[in-house]
Amino acid sequence: MNIVLFGPPGAGKGTQAKLICEKYFLNHLSTGDLLRKESSKETSLGIQIKNTINDGKLVSNETTIELIKQFINENKNNNKGFLFDGFPRNKKQAELLDHLMESINEKILCVILLNVNEDVLKERIMNRSTTEGRSDDNLETLSKRLHTYSSETEPLIEYYSSQNLVRKVHGTGEISDINQGISSHIEASLNA
Ligand code: ATP
Ligand code: MG
Repeated sequence: MNIVLFGPPGAGKGTQAKLICEKYFLNHLSTGDLLRKESSKETSLGIQIKNTINDGKLVSNETTIELIKQFINENKNNNKGFLFDGFPRNKKQAELLDHLMESINEKILCVILLNVNEDVLKERIMNRSTTEGRSDDNLETLSKRLHTYSSETEPLIEYYSSQNLVRKVHGTGEISDINQGISSHIEASLNA
């Protein structure tokens, strides 16, 4: 099965993705992680990615899609499917994902939307900035990331709602309760 984990920056996608992947034996495909890994290389592409991330914008579809395809190819025979974390982030990526799924004879089971309000997002990211040291976890970049989310990524909720795939989960409270909420939706979708 293949699942999309959707939500604004700081919604807790990474945290929940790990738990869900362990529970259902899925490959964790985080475009943020893949891009950060690429950006840590001192190549011109790496530097370009780093600048874009620090500016709170989306990295080009071309670069993102290349990394996705590579990851899928390397992992398609492992585990039982993919959990997409931070992808797709715009319409073009969503369409590409549909094609990719089709090409490997798979489909998206559901899109889990983690709902968290903006005050909590800001608080979490500012807390995280003191522990993880991500260069995009500062108030200035965060406000740009939130803007990018609402203008380019959030419209995908409509794209997936029209396919009846969206399942909303409250993203605040205990990590284990949120995880339970996600699992219930996955199991309901599996049994539908
Ligand atoms: P969090 O990890 O807290 O949920 P986030 O969703 O903003 O926050 P990542 O998913 O790690 O964090 O993404 C960090 C940055 O990487 C984004 O702001 C963007 O610049 C880039 N990025 C990640 N995924 C994509 C994507 N699918 N397309 C283009 N750029 C991406
Ligand atoms: Mg993340």
